[in-house]
Amino acid sequence: MADCLFCRIIAGEIPSKRAFENERIFAFHDIQPGAPTHVLLVPKRHIAGLDNATAADAALLGELQLEAARLAKELGLANGYRTVLNVGPDAGQSVFHIHLHLLGGRHLAWPPG
Ligand code: 5GP
Ligand code: ZN
Repeated sequence: MADCLFCRIIAGEIPSKRAFENERIFAFHDIQPGAPTHVLLVPKRHIAGLDNATAADAALLGELQLEAARLAKELGLANGYRTVLNVGPDAGQSVFHIHLHLLGGRHLAWPPG
């Protein structure tokens, strides 16, 4: 989608610090990190959010989670980490291209704010 920030990051039109990439997934460091490690994992195919995903996206969503777990190990988050999907206004979703947050490197309070 031409006017989507994350589609433009995936296309390389907007620079980002890449953490991982394969044919289906792009992962990059958040510009405003909420923890010492804060990576966003996105499918290369535009999906606006979890509410817009369908059964056909199940494998892709699973791959995002499993890739987050692999990246967490690679980035040294041996003490734990959190993966988060923000959905809609109450959760503060601000970019409408689905993205899985991977946060770690400090104690993460529960429940989140
Ligand atoms: P949301 O609030 O939608 O769950 O998360 C959007 C995330 O995207 C935020 O954590 C925000 O800091 C991050 N973000 C917004 N614009 C950019 C950008 O241009 N580059 C990068 N790397 N991250 C961004
Ligand atoms: Zn997009």
